[in-house]
Amino acid sequence: MKYVIALDAGTTSVRAFVYDLKTGKFVHGASQEIKQSFPRAGWVEQDANEIYYKAAYCLNECVRFAGAENVAGMGITNQRETVVLWDKTTGEPVCPAIVWQCRRTSEYCAALSKENKELIRERTGLVVDAYFSASKIRWILDNVPKARTLEKNGTLCAGTIDSYLIFKFTEGRTFATDVTNASRTMLFNIKTLDWDEELLQLFGVSREILPEVRACDARMGEAEIAGSRIPIAGVIGDQQAALFGQGCLSEGDGKITYGTGLFLLFNTGGRCAQSKRGMLSTIGYSACGKTTYALEGSAFNAGSAVQWLRDGLGFIKTSAESERVAESVESSGGVYFVPAFTGLGAPYWNAEARGLLTGITRSTTRAHIVRAVLESIAFSARDLASCMEEDSGIKLREIKCDGGASANNFLMQFQSNVLGVCINRPVERESTALGAALMCALSLGLVEEQDIPRLRSSERIFTPSPDREKFDRLYGEYCRAVQKTLL
Ligand code: ADP
Repeated sequence: MKYVIALDAGTTSVRAFVYDLKTGKFVHGASQEIKQSFPRAGWVEQDANEIYYKAAYCLNECVRFAGAENVAGMGITNQRETVVLWDKTTGEPVCPAIVWQCRRTSEYCAALSKENKELIRERTGLVVDAYFSASKIRWILDNVPKARTLEKNGTLCAGTIDSYLIFKFTEGRTFATDVTNASRTMLFNIKTLDWDEELLQLFGVSREILPEVRACDARMGEAEIAGSRIPIAGVIGDQQAALFGQGCLSEGDGKITYGTGLFLLFNTGGRCAQSKRGMLSTIGYSACGKTTYALEGSAFNAGSAVQWLRDGLGFIKTSAESERVAESVESSGGVYFVPAFTGLGAPYWNAEARGLLTGITRSTTRAHIVRAVLESIAFSARDLASCMEEDSGIKLREIKCDGGASANNFLMQFQSNVLGVCINRPVERESTALGAALMCALSLGLVEEQDIPRLRSSERIFTPSPDREKFDRLYGEYCRAVQKTLL
């Protein structure tokens, strides 16, 4: 058996990759776009059937390439929090999937009492928000009559995308999810590792309709693909998969994914650190009989600010061009940008804040502004990293990076300078899919846990400038600009 397959069911696309166990490289991939619909302002839906058919197409393609007899198994990683409710007897969804970005249950969440919000925070590690699955399940139970009928008949299933795909691929034999996906539902107690009775009651969701929760390295049955049966072993939510794929398996290891937004995950070992500054406590992964926790912080806008430079201002033709333009000047010339297009997340949590460009003089050029925008991404990562360090009492040693904007050398060097730690960029930037492939290999006994960090190879390491004072001063200026957006 030479290969492991990773299925990455993301928000905008579903992809499958064939991973060669000997060389540690992806050798083949298939991808399909997934449609999103926006039936009302703030609503986001997807067709779970489409996700399944396109996942099946990509997997067929990969199994055909590799030859079923050469495939040891498949791992699954997925967009988290998105909810599907379906009929156990037919596998048909009762309505469109409600996607993590959907805001339809914001009011419901806001109306929960202070005591309940505290209870939820304590049990789940999450800040109450429509983002997570619980209120979305409640909405479907309240608004889709078919869901209630099936619930009465005892044939309703509710779960995240991973559990739906596992159910479909095993032809209904397995109804299960993994702990990382469960930890984003707002119904799961991350300390007892079980659905929380009080939270189930609070949201009016019965345990019977929810999947069994298993470890990330648990076996999930066999998938019917291209006329063969492929073991499903290794299921892990996307951000956690990137943490795992980057080999961040020890306490104090952290990764930042620079995509549309920015996600920092920080391994806190066996300790479930409670944040005082609005970070989420979550399960990093659970494998080989132990559970590893993580703190998670995100900035809503990162790569999206580069897209704004390109599409909104027309300052650059491609996102990649931002690197050359930023480097054409020595500094931002005193210009600071705050990327608060849709408010500010942790640690500010201000939904009303809006973007700001400050420090402009007659000598300011397009290059200074482009540079200030890239610098702002690095500064917002420092906001998150400082919270993480305070909450966990652990000092960051090094950050692994991935995601589209991690290709930007200027940004990565500046990030290293601003954080005062090395930024380590891997050869293999598809960390999410790699994480699922490695979790599968671990589950099947093809790799040992301690060997995983060694399987990752660095493409480049950015080391921080010794001039700490300079970068602390620049960060201080950025913080002053942020304060102006909060006025
Ligand atoms: P997502 O998974 O959120 O769709 P990706 O990881 O694919 O995001 O990254 C895409 C984002 O990265 C876009 O917002 C794009 O503007 C930004 N990006 C891509 N390449 C670069 C680059 N070289 N420099 C700066 N930003 C970049």
